[in-house]
Amino acid sequence: MKNLLFALYFTLVLLLPDFIADIFWHDFYTITPYRTPKELLATFLIGYLLSFAPKIFTTIVTSIFLLFAFISIGFYAYFHNYLMPYDLGILQNSDDVKDIFYSLGDIAGVVIFLLILWAVLTFLTYYILKKLNPKTKKFALPLFLIALIIYPYFINKKANIYLANFTHFSWFNTLNTIYLAGLKALKPHPHHNYKPYIVKKTDSGKPIVIMIMGESMNYKYMHLFGWKDKNTPLLDSLKNDSHFIYKKAISCSIRTICSVTTFFYNKREPDNISLIAKNYTNIMKLASENGYDTYWLSMQSDVSLMSNIFNYAKHKKFVWEFKRKYDDELINELKKIPFNKKTFVVLHLKADHSPYMKYVPQKFYKFSKKDSKIWAYDNAIFYTDYVVYNVIDYMKKHHKNFVIYFTSDHGEMMGFPWEGGKRGHSQLVWGDTYVPFIYYSDRFDKNFSKKIYNHYIISKMLTRDLGYKIINPNENGSYFVNGVNIDGSAGWMEYKLTDKLPPKLIKKVKY
Ligand SMILES: [Zn+2]
Repeated sequence: MKNLLFALYFTLVLLLPDFIADIFWHDFYTITPYRTPKELLATFLIGYLLSFAPKIFTTIVTSIFLLFAFISIGFYAYFHNYLMPYDLGILQNSDDVKDIFYSLGDIAGVVIFLLILWAVLTFLTYYILKKLNPKTKKFALPLFLIALIIYPYFINKKANIYLANFTHFSWFNTLNTIYLAGLKALKPHPHHNYKPYIVKKTDSGKPIVIMIMGESMNYKYMHLFGWKDKNTPLLDSLKNDSHFIYKKAISCSIRTICSVTTFFYNKREPDNISLIAKNYTNIMKLASENGYDTYWLSMQSDVSLMSNIFNYAKHKKFVWEFKRKYDDELINELKKIPFNKKTFVVLHLKADHSPYMKYVPQKFYKFSKKDSKIWAYDNAIFYTDYVVYNVIDYMKKHHKNFVIYFTSDHGEMMGFPWEGGKRGHSQLVWGDTYVPFIYYSDRFDKNFSKKIYNHYIISKMLTRDLGYKIINPNENGSYFVNGVNIDGSAGWMEYKLTDKLPPKLIKKVKY
């Protein structure tokens, strides 16, 4: 019983700070049905196990975990972001360490308050242990140490979901960040020094900017681009509209989180991780700084790495907050936006992801087995055609002075011979880099002289529309497709754009 009481105390003292921090910064911690109960139980069980260990040991561990929670909160207080493994990576650079100490000075009040609270809670823990005097067992200490040692083995497999974000408790975020940084240091990884990008504010930006980020959509399998199945009737109907531009494009990566993050950072070099640690090319952050009302409306549940971007959006909504979990709900969400001031909206779709019909409402099941070899994917495309068209159509009918961009995070392979029989995505080949690029504006015509576009170029255009020019002194005429890891550690392809696809491969790097 006394051991259970300590476990209860342990859970409260570690988790309460998150809920208190959430009062100050809305969205610091978000309760999710799929993560909160698990982590709550895990915290309680760890507390229960620790309660059987020697008091000094339990006090030290509790104190360290508390410090983890406070580091996370302090970091957020300054950066409005979560401490990530690559943030620890930059600690090797002494200038960056100096910067961090100076930054701490800016939030001295918070830091001192947290340090005092930390000391008080550490003493309180020891005091409570002495008063409660829970049963001790010999196995508790070694069992806890073993758990600490084998834990990285589990997070290494699914490193992405353990990246720090608002769906994890703070103490857990810092613990995982330290482990992941350690694991990364053990692996061979690329490291180049890149010149910093230059961000110039050019103007106040276009009044309304909408970026629709699709999911697993390959232009090759869209009727709009010549595919045989009539799966894009609505976008086809815009072909004669002079405002409607559609182009073939190459994605910047082959995996959702890596592509979306790379895109919204205007990141060119696969291993240029300092861009993300330093955050100055973050498009959502720039838009907010330029006075935009910013929205991130998403039918996706992955919030790990991408939270770096949407932490800077003033309004956010994710799939678990919708009753109906289909992409067209995002159109209803869009209709609620007043657009009475400068507005930047990101709509993040889900529908074309495998299994292909899972995210498609039944009334869009147009194709069946007898129609096509890829009928399930056709249905997903058919549905996305409806969603993208209706965003354009709604804006056309109800608003003025807008630009709409649409592309997909990466493509998808269907197992055809030209894909070497491969299926799906996440493979470092051209087949899953082919994506559509659509642009629509009622007023702002642009020169679209290229035959083939890519994410890097599109991201620059988008940034210009938000009032910034990003100059990258590392450019040399080539572009990159990153592998599945944001720091380039899963390999990449370097290429030159030509008028044909696939583009001209310069180098393929594997690790
Ligand atoms: Zn994806």
